[in-house]
Amino acid sequence: MLKYRSYTVKNVHELPQYRALGKEQIHTIKTVATVYPFRINNYVADHLIDWSNIPDDPMFRLSFPQAEMLDTRDFSVMSDLIRSDEDPERTRSAAKEIQLRQNPNPAGQMELNTPRIDGNMLHGMQHKYRESVLFFPAEAQVCHAYCTYCFRWPQFSGLDNMKFTNHDVSLLTGYLREHPEVKDIIFTGGDPMVMTANLLKKYIRPVLEVESIRTIRIGTKSLSWWPMRFTTDEDADEILRFFEEIVNSGKHLAIMAHISHEKEISTPQAEEAIRRIRSTGAVIRSQSPIVRHVNDQAETWEAMWQKQLYMGIIPYYMFLERDTGPKKYFEVPLHEALDIFNNAYRKMSGLGRTVRGPSMSCSPGKIIVEDIAEIHGEKVYVLKFTQGRNPEWTNQLFFAEYNENASWIDDLTPAFGHAQFFFEEEMEEMMSV
Ligand SMILES: *Cc1c(COP(=O)(O)O)cnc(C)c1O
Ligand code: SF4
Repeated sequence: MLKYRSYTVKNVHELPQYRALGKEQIHTIKTVATVYPFRINNYVADHLIDWSNIPDDPMFRLSFPQAEMLDTRDFSVMSDLIRSDEDPERTRSAAKEIQLRQNPNPAGQMELNTPRIDGNMLHGMQHKYRESVLFFPAEAQVCHAYCTYCFRWPQFSGLDNMKFTNHDVSLLTGYLREHPEVKDIIFTGGDPMVMTANLLKKYIRPVLEVESIRTIRIGTKSLSWWPMRFTTDEDADEILRFFEEIVNSGKHLAIMAHISHEKEISTPQAEEAIRRIRSTGAVIRSQSPIVRHVNDQAETWEAMWQKQLYMGIIPYYMFLERDTGPKKYFEVPLHEALDIFNNAYRKMSGLGRTVRGPSMSCSPGKIIVEDIAEIHGEKVYVLKFTQGRNPEWTNQLFFAEYNENASWIDDLTPAFGHAQFFFEEEMEEMMSV
């Protein structure tokens, strides 16, 4: 039985591979980790990272801070503070100043999505799309290891007022009963699978009683970042029995696995975890962002989707890197992401073409880059809502001027000389209430 060990900046020198890192690398980790959360576990270090290929190894890039995640000026400020090692308070406040400049709360999550019951804000929940509600259990606000590109970095960085937490499940079920249009409840975090089986039951069991909820989703990276959660952890069997209980209650249990690379599902541990979860009747779907230095090649996506397909995992979303934190380092421009998506997608059989993307989760909704086309002599991006803040927007196409450098909706302007995208006026009205 593999015992869980986690390493942060404080004890990274205890990592067995510490010597492989080298002085510069270690200084970089310490510097960048003042701004962005760093945490790794023994399984990722021992079984996923190829230490003979650092820093280029994608699993290394995914889990260890990189100098370029900060801009040159910020890096040198933090680097000097770390080297001088004088006043931790000064280092902390300099880091915070940088953090607050990195758009820590993108897509209007706080202002627009927090639901209310009897006039009280239900912190710890987000209800953005009619059919689904996100729920953030307080105890799930960490992960087994932190991804360098994570858009949830503010939750892990002690920017406290931006955390979503909630202990009171009755508020959740109360809300769901008042909103029978909600069919899916999505448990997310952090990672809900860092919770014990008992806690997980405390959160999920009451929801099983809500008739109108048909699907329970659990968003998790544990399948690849700590697969022992489903195999040899003390309460692994209890977790699986609970999954069976959910399935037997008549609900659809969807494990939304965050998988960025084939490597993550290629260890015997991950394979066993996947096999065991599927045997409970739960369905595993996969989603992840396309990230520079990690999975910015069509071959990587094709290999991953093909492998998922024959393991019984359903490819679901390819996301674009959100406009927050170290986006500049990880972003892939829209036209390149589309190319990579298409080149991988075209090699899949129909069964693998369940995946959608590349998709931007932005304030108006989830917007897919469908195509690049020439219409009436103008080169344009063809975009499509797969989710809209107004459900009527779903599946609507719209067009933006082609722009080679665009990597997010904010970089785009409407095509054909239009002053606004069709949804903007309505969006402004929604923002003002
Ligand atoms: C992505 C997302 C969902 C789920 O959308 P699906 O398209 O049903 O997977 C729900 N709420 C928020 C806020 C989201 O970003
Ligand atoms: S597992 Fe998901 S939530 Fe956790 S650090 Fe990685 S991207 Fe962020």
